[in-house]
Amino acid sequence: MQVKRNTIQKKAILALVLLGVLVIGLGVLYKVTRYPSELTQVSLENKTVGSHEQVKEKNDTMIKVYHYPKTSVKSLNQWIENEHKHNDEMMSKLKKAEQAHLVKQDYSIKETDDYLSVALILNVDGKPQKQTQRTFSKKDDTMLPIGALFNDTGQNIISSLLRNNYKQEKMSRNDYLQTYSAAEFKDFYIDEETIKTMHAGQTFDLPLKETLTYLKNNIGKHTVSKEPTPSVYLDAGVDPDKKLVAFTFDDGPHWEVTEKIMDTLEKYDGQGTFFMVGQRVEESKDYPRIVKSVLDRGHQLANHSYSHENFNSLEKKPLNEQIDKTNDIFYKATGYKGPYMVRPPYGNANEFVRNNTNSVFVNWSVDTLDWQSRNKNAICNEIQKQSHDGAIILIHDLYETSYEGFECGIKKLADEGYTFVTVEELFKARGIQYETGEIYTWGPKAN
Ligand code: ZN
Repeated sequence: MQVKRNTIQKKAILALVLLGVLVIGLGVLYKVTRYPSELTQVSLENKTVGSHEQVKEKNDTMIKVYHYPKTSVKSLNQWIENEHKHNDEMMSKLKKAEQAHLVKQDYSIKETDDYLSVALILNVDGKPQKQTQRTFSKKDDTMLPIGALFNDTGQNIISSLLRNNYKQEKMSRNDYLQTYSAAEFKDFYIDEETIKTMHAGQTFDLPLKETLTYLKNNIGKHTVSKEPTPSVYLDAGVDPDKKLVAFTFDDGPHWEVTEKIMDTLEKYDGQGTFFMVGQRVEESKDYPRIVKSVLDRGHQLANHSYSHENFNSLEKKPLNEQIDKTNDIFYKATGYKGPYMVRPPYGNANEFVRNNTNSVFVNWSVDTLDWQSRNKNAICNEIQKQSHDGAIILIHDLYETSYEGFECGIKKLADEGYTFVTVEELFKARGIQYETGEIYTWGPKAN
């Protein structure tokens, strides 16, 4: 019996020791593998598409948990993999702190018709660090630029909205067009009611119901409208360090000259500004089409009064009618509400005119005297002789000789390295914060 008891006691002690080792071992193991719940737990909202996956990692510097969706769309999975690589690279530069950094990536995914949108939201130590979002076509298995959602005019409208809604750091024209073009811009997410865009930490939401006239296909419950698509003025981007001139054309439209001028400007990858007379637009049923094409082709449409009255001789009411009637005619022709810059007939806009209207006035620094000379060579010489960086050049798109003089002049300026821009582009490139009630005659030189 004695022997037996001893054996039982020994076995019990051994069992206790083993249990102790097991408990300590499990404890150590638990401590090693345990991830803080603030990293492992995420809201289940907007995670109904694909499977919810995690990548976990622990080292001396950080504890990370990336949550992400896995779907059958390969291009999407690939993008996520690349994002994780980028994030890892970023995290590898974190400084070692007393406590390991807590790194968490949350996500949301949304399916709308053929579109699959994913947002990845990265937090470090509880603070938002980075958010990126992309939209994919399930059918084509590709990442989409935002322009893929819209028709041709719609792409211009979207480019224009991107350019107007994101702060423009000084950048080269190529970078500008790459960053803010519908055909290139990919940082967007389609939600029920909005398209959410992001750039450099800023956001801009576009309500889907405002896009119905220029959507390519229906999106969710949002149906493409049969209304004509409105035009938009599209800032085509400028290298601010290049020599710039703004060609401006008064008194049109003209059934032939206006379009020839646009053709020639475009030959030099340039844009111009067309100050049109409202009454003249009404003269031919063909003219509203030309007015619209000015905007659709990326040029600037501007106001040169309704019936070419001398503004300095008008009372407040007829003065404003001269401007407003033409703005309305433009709106009817193009669907674009402006604002439209104004060139007063004869360049006349005294203090009373400027204080009693609500427009930005634009005159010129180079007068080609084309209406007077009606001579190609004389016009061409004036353009070449007088032009300077920042010049606003006055020509009339009324006469064949004006066109010929312009065609000769633009070639000479192109040879001298000039870029041809709209008045709006010139002002933006040179940092002029133009205001209503002011009159401008040129843009400052490049620094
Ligand atoms: Zn005029």
